[in-house]
Amino acid sequence: MAEKTDCGALTAEAGELQVLNRPAENAELWDFVRSWLRRFAKADGDKAAERFVCLWAAVMAWAAKGVPDLRRAQEETYLAHGLARDLRLAERFANLYKIDREFHKKVDRFLALSPVFQAAWLQKAALADWDPAQDRRAYIAKAMEKADADAPNPFAPACGRGHIQAGEKIPADWAHVFSMIAQARRNLFHGGKNYKNAGERQFLEPAMSILWEVWRFELPSGLLLSRVSWLRALLRSGFMAREAENRISLADETEANRKYLQKLLAAGHFGTLKNGVFLPNEPYVEESYWLRAVDSTHGSAEGGQADDLAIMDTHMAGLVRWLNQVGIGTELSCDGHGEKKPFFLAVDEDSARLAAWLLNFRASQFNQSGKTVKYAGSGPNPNAAKPAERLKKMLDVAEWLAKNREDLKVMVAAMRKVSAPKTPPKTEPLAVKDQSLRPK
Ligand SMILES: [Zn+2]
Repeated sequence: MAEKTDCGALTAEAGELQVLNRPAENAELWDFVRSWLRRFAKADGDKAAERFVCLWAAVMAWAAKGVPDLRRAQEETYLAHGLARDLRLAERFANLYKIDREFHKKVDRFLALSPVFQAAWLQKAALADWDPAQDRRAYIAKAMEKADADAPNPFAPACGRGHIQAGEKIPADWAHVFSMIAQARRNLFHGGKNYKNAGERQFLEPAMSILWEVWRFELPSGLLLSRVSWLRALLRSGFMAREAENRISLADETEANRKYLQKLLAAGHFGTLKNGVFLPNEPYVEESYWLRAVDSTHGSAEGGQADDLAIMDTHMAGLVRWLNQVGIGTELSCDGHGEKKPFFLAVDEDSARLAAWLLNFRASQFNQSGKTVKYAGSGPNPNAAKPAERLKKMLDVAEWLAKNREDLKVMVAAMRKVSAPKTPPKTEPLAVKDQSLRPK
């Protein structure tokens, strides 16, 4: 008789706990966490084990302040089960799994390797380390045969045998994945010299990276995170948002964009949009989290109407939208997808020249050629800008345009008069005329 697999063993030590306390105002804790994270953040491929230990130390210190029974804060299993149970981490894991393609893939690959065996038990059972060139399933079957069903499970998740026997996949949820992360971490110390084996190391990178992705949102602003107000996040992404009576109003936004925003809010569990008023769950948002929701929700057409945010690239939507709002029409745009340099096409060469002039107003950073305006980088070594910096720059420019749009609109209109030839151009975009003629 097939019974339903009992997954309670993953969090049994946590007792009644549902959510860990969040130690927001604990300066001592954050100082401690910062010192470990500094070492963790040094990206160095050879030091994966060391980085994992540093991250783990930070997470455990955080959990030790958050468990209800502080007398047990020294017990690693108690802390680990508390972390595995925590509903907020679980919800965040589920959200990331839903909205972030890379995260989703990483989790699936990690689960495909499950369960993670105790390195010490593998040695005792005289089982050779898994060779990544071998089929993992065959290896698991062989190891499972050796594992005594009555003894404590020498693998994680502890309910793994039940799932496998029932022909189920290991559930892609926080509790199951975290138990594997914790086992990968324990193997770091108990695996001894065999841990250098390539097979075992397969678990290290994904375990560390999944833990970091889920947990890092607990860090206070300024500690490796960039948290922005919702108004800023929306403006940077091109939404026609404004503050009205301490609320964020989207009354000026188009129906289509409001629908699109609603979709984004649902995807990331950010809040709701009611009668044109945005009611966020939290006043601030970690921008990368928001952008990931945008990334996984928007369409991929690079042309189209500049006010149709749903079809524009994540990092270009704001820039293009606000350029159009100040009177410079565009035809298409591309944020370079982290590979190429971001660029857009203006409706004509005059507009492109005007756009470059405007965007280079504070610092020279865009090149113009024909109708094309391309981000070139800035500073003493423009070509050294990393893709992530380039993309962030597009958001900064969008925000600058948005905040100064009333003045810039006047400037653009004036510049058009100055530079206009004697006979007016035939193809001046309609939107530009509308805006420049609208009384202030
Ligand atoms: Zn289970």
